[in-house]
Amino acid sequence: MYDPKSKFEKHVLPSGVEVWAACLSDRPDIQRQALSIAIHSGSFHGGRGLAHFTEHGVATTGKFDKVIEEINLEGGGVNCGRTSVWQTTYGFLTPLDRFNEFVERFCGYVLKSDLSFDVEAEKKIILSELYRKFETVSSANHQIFYYQCLLKDHWTPAYSRGLGTPEFINAVTPDKVLEFYAKHYTPANISLITAGPMTIAEVVGVLGQSGWGREPQRGQRATEPKLDRELKESPVKACAFEEPIDASKFFSGVAVSPLATKQAVRLASDILEGIFFKRLRMEKNLIYGVGCNWSNYREFYELSVGFNGVNADRIQEAHDEYQRVWSEIGEGKLLTEEQLAQVKKGFVNAARYNDWTLSNIVDFAESDIVFNGRVEPDSEYLQKMDAATLDEVRQVAINLHPEKCFNRWMLAKGAKPPTTVPIFDLNAASKALNEGRIPQPKQNGLSIDFEI
Ligand SMILES: [Zn+2]
Repeated sequence: MYDPKSKFEKHVLPSGVEVWAACLSDRPDIQRQALSIAIHSGSFHGGRGLAHFTEHGVATTGKFDKVIEEINLEGGGVNCGRTSVWQTTYGFLTPLDRFNEFVERFCGYVLKSDLSFDVEAEKKIILSELYRKFETVSSANHQIFYYQCLLKDHWTPAYSRGLGTPEFINAVTPDKVLEFYAKHYTPANISLITAGPMTIAEVVGVLGQSGWGREPQRGQRATEPKLDRELKESPVKACAFEEPIDASKFFSGVAVSPLATKQAVRLASDILEGIFFKRLRMEKNLIYGVGCNWSNYREFYELSVGFNGVNADRIQEAHDEYQRVWSEIGEGKLLTEEQLAQVKKGFVNAARYNDWTLSNIVDFAESDIVFNGRVEPDSEYLQKMDAATLDEVRQVAINLHPEKCFNRWMLAKGAKPPTTVPIFDLNAASKALNEGRIPQPKQNGLSIDFEI
């Protein structure tokens, strides 16, 4: 099995920059080098949207459009800024003979930016990104509400809006951006991840000559936010919101305890999606959409299930079926050893067909480094996957029982809500949670505000 992640080696430059390089000497067809620059600070560290705002400042000041054009003309590519919860990244893919030059230029853009950008103009661009992601304030509030209920008092408000709220974005000042930049864009807070024909010694040589190596030791790795691992009760167990939409939706989410292994969560997610898809979509023709997702937030996992249906009755039936599935899991009728073996086999096969482009190799390695501080070879990952037991997977499924989850319905206009579920005015409920109060269901069926 081709396993380029097993080739990564690490070296720390005197400036404090950490270098991870994979030399793909067995791929003479590859004559390009990819580099990703990971700043170990993201939306969590800056509070609602500051990391993302800074990313825009860096990319705008650095005349990235000129680089994008140049690199594209050479058949390469540029990532001129991406902000996630834990990291902000920039990077490029370039022909070998221009690697040194772009290494030097990117170092200037990222480490020595004066951030002389038009803050007011950028506010408008970032607001437009926010509205592209959340078409309505209501859809953004749904997400925030969901995370606040699911993981109250954890770290969710920062997570749920990496882009920031409109109020936050409008209130950003150049000083705030500069402060974030000075604190986080330091050599010791950066990992450079590269893959291509170059050996780590060659890469280190080039980086040492460049600003990445010449820059004096400065800063430190951003401290990892403290995760409160004890799961708390959600203040609202189930709720419904009225929405001016055509189809109703149901979502159920749970935070999986850190004791569950990553592999078990991943396997459970795939198995459950298979069960739901077959039962709800194929056999009962109940719904038109079903999805089961898992997210990895360091040692904290989140698993969510969602159904879309043309009307609320269908959604209610799907929900009842969903509860039956959990009972069957509890009774040991579902999740057999055979099923598990089948799903594991699927993972091994899928790994063989990984699309190992240079950029993908670097991206996958980067995600490992950000989450675990090291690159995990595929072979190691598959071994752990194979070792996950039925009991572990079942435990994840049991933790997902609807009673432990936060369930919410979004009801299409005019749809009747499930009788036992309180209906909330979303905006009022979000406000209450933000102020630390328990949201109260509304008395009558007034529609929620629907304006951006
Ligand atoms: Zn952006």
